[in-house]
Amino acid sequence: MRNPANLYSVEFFPPRTEEGTAKLRMARAQLAQLKPAFCSVTFGAGGSTREGTLATVVEILGEGLPAAPHLSCVGGTRESLRGVLTQYRAHGIRHLVALRGDIPSGMADAGEFRYASDLVEFIRAETGDWFHVDVACYPEYHPQARTPQEDLDHFERKVRAGADSAITQYFFNRDAYWSFVEACAVRGLTIPIVPGIMPIMTATRLARFSDACGAEIPRWIRRKLESFGDDTASLRAFGLDVVTDLCARLLDEGAPGLHFYTLNSAGLTTTIWQRLAL
Ligand SMILES: Cc1cc2nc3c(=O)[nH]c(=O)nc-3n(C[C@H](O)[C@H](O)[C@H](O)COP(=O)(O)OP(=O)(O)OC[C@H]3O[C@@H](n4cnc5c(N)ncnc54)[C@H](O)[C@@H]3O)c2cc1C
Repeated sequence: MRNPANLYSVEFFPPRTEEGTAKLRMARAQLAQLKPAFCSVTFGAGGSTREGTLATVVEILGEGLPAAPHLSCVGGTRESLRGVLTQYRAHGIRHLVALRGDIPSGMADAGEFRYASDLVEFIRAETGDWFHVDVACYPEYHPQARTPQEDLDHFERKVRAGADSAITQYFFNRDAYWSFVEACAVRGLTIPIVPGIMPIMTATRLARFSDACGAEIPRWIRRKLESFGDDTASLRAFGLDVVTDLCARLLDEGAPGLHFYTLNSAGLTTTIWQRLAL
């Protein structure tokens, strides 16, 4: 029996092509049947998908699903971010995922805010309690953090600035997650910290993402994935077992929910969700 207070959510990125838009609509139609607590939509740091975030969120709301746009502050100004907040409010959006974002190569101007904590502060100053504000956190620590301690200090800053809950970078090491949660509790940071879950689609894609975001693929998983070669059916079956088991154990141990990085595909997330009987 799952904790009825848990929240299970899904994440999409704004599609850039008509084909991608059609694919996402199909994925959403399937995932909507699972009744996710909310659908979050990523926000491009380079400007290429900024309009896409709002357009996707508006479609999701139109389908009767709760939506939570991501908002990153890198490259933004107070004025531009104020404009985005005003737009979101006008659409009745009450939930944001506030991020720094990554500075795209070639972008000279990092904007008026340096860190996500500055953005959370700004959102609270501009809009009070209108938005439920989620922030990101990193059980295996952010790749740019000098030390785990400093990364925790910076996470604490976001929480003290007014974050309501957090979503983690994906991970496969449960101990890293619980160690992070405990370190937060020691600091009195008791907001829900929801594990971000990455279903395993292909070995190369997972390796590429993990290299970029600093999530560790344990050796035994990496070796197994590599051993499947072109046998996608076996890789998929193994990946589903690994991730379902990770989720089940996290929930049994008391995690406050799960946030699925769907990559705009419904299949793997749906199977994991159904196996867990969420
Ligand atoms: C759940 C989730 C959703 C995401 N969605 C998006 C998205 O939609 N769009 C996107 O572009 N990216 C997204 N990302 C990626 C994210 O933008 C990157 O990981 C980015 O590098 C850090 O963002 P942050 O909000 O965690 O930054 P911050 O919390 O600002 O931290 C960034 C780094 O700066 C350090 N730091 C923070 N404050 C200080 C300070 N005061 N002094 C010195 N150092 C400091 C931190 O330790 C960390 O190393 C997402 C990540 C997660 C986990």
